[in-house]
Amino acid sequence: MAVSVVINNLVKTFGETRAVDHISLTIDPGELFFLLGPSGCGKTTLLRCIAGFHQPESGSIHMGEQEVTRLQPHQRDTGMVFQSYALWPHMTVTQNVAFGLEMRKVGKAETAKRVAEALALVRMSDRADYKPNQLSGGQQQRVALARALVIHPKCLLLDEPLSNLDAKLRLEMRTEIRRICKESGLTAIYVTHDQKEALSVADRLAVLNGGIVEQCGTPEDVYLRPQSVFAAGFIGETNFLDGTVKKILGDRLLVSTQEGDWESKHGLGSYEVGDEVSVSLRPETLHIGDASAGQPNVVEGIVHDTVYLGEVAQHQVRLGGDNGKNVKVFDLNPRIIARNAPQKATIWVDAQDVVVLPRGKA
Ligand code: ATP
Repeated sequence: MAVSVVINNLVKTFGETRAVDHISLTIDPGELFFLLGPSGCGKTTLLRCIAGFHQPESGSIHMGEQEVTRLQPHQRDTGMVFQSYALWPHMTVTQNVAFGLEMRKVGKAETAKRVAEALALVRMSDRADYKPNQLSGGQQQRVALARALVIHPKCLLLDEPLSNLDAKLRLEMRTEIRRICKESGLTAIYVTHDQKEALSVADRLAVLNGGIVEQCGTPEDVYLRPQSVFAAGFIGETNFLDGTVKKILGDRLLVSTQEGDWESKHGLGSYEVGDEVSVSLRPETLHIGDASAGQPNVVEGIVHDTVYLGEVAQHQVRLGGDNGKNVKVFDLNPRIIARNAPQKATIWVDAQDVVVLPRGKA
């Protein structure tokens, strides 16, 4: 039975470093939840507090109805998967997967049944008699998953499980991990610094920065409606322009920047005229070429560099003259290629794609 995991006001410090700084999160039963952030943001520390390997100074952790904050790791019913697969080299796949059940004194017949089920779930039944050194990295990680799942944990914890795999296998295993979590119906908490992994696999994610949660939401929420410069810059690519709120026009804000004036449908009600803000413009939302009549957010620029990739061109476009900034523009099915000489171009963007954020650090 999947359980919720509720983290309330959790604090964990190491000397002067507050690795987890009053974090509160609610993870729903059966949810595949990601903790995402740059190196040192506290994601592993938070996961280890949930597993019971670290004791927090304050705050609480509940799994379902049960408070587990002060319980030992083996009393929590969590299965953990590490970056290094941590398989026993002298044991076969079956023996590795059965190990946790033997420790728990589960009977032989029940162990055999559960090992067979776990190996089938990770599609490793045909490798049951192999030793770890006869398996590829991806296969070893499948065995590590089976070993975590076989004990029927309340919650599966995954710490950068794909970091040791090459790029192609990582892509394949992303989909596999999602399938396995969903088929087993478990609540899973997954730590990564790889935003593509989080965007493509998570039900919801929390972006961590300096021990705090910058933003929590579905991948689309965080990508399309970031709430801070840090979240916008960490997830995906974006262009930031410094600006000032110039007017409030009914359902839109008008922000003035050195690079032009921008109408935005984001952030209404959050800002007043005169506020200093950052405007975030994703490269794929900027269009190059003629805009239709009446389109707001049309500015003139100079395309001075283009990387042509066939289906898409990545342009560097200077806006706002010599004092302005370069913005990156992704142009699908490109027609304008500035390989040799700078070219004038018109850039435009829909008001719903102009995101206004409090001025901050990316
Ligand atoms: P990475 O992606 O590099 O693993 P992370 O986001 O998982 O980073 P943590 O490992 O949780 O970050 O570390 C958060 C902060 O706590 C860092 O400043 C780190 O140096 C510190 N820290 C973590 N573990 C310890 C420890 N055992 N002793 C002292 N400081 C620690």
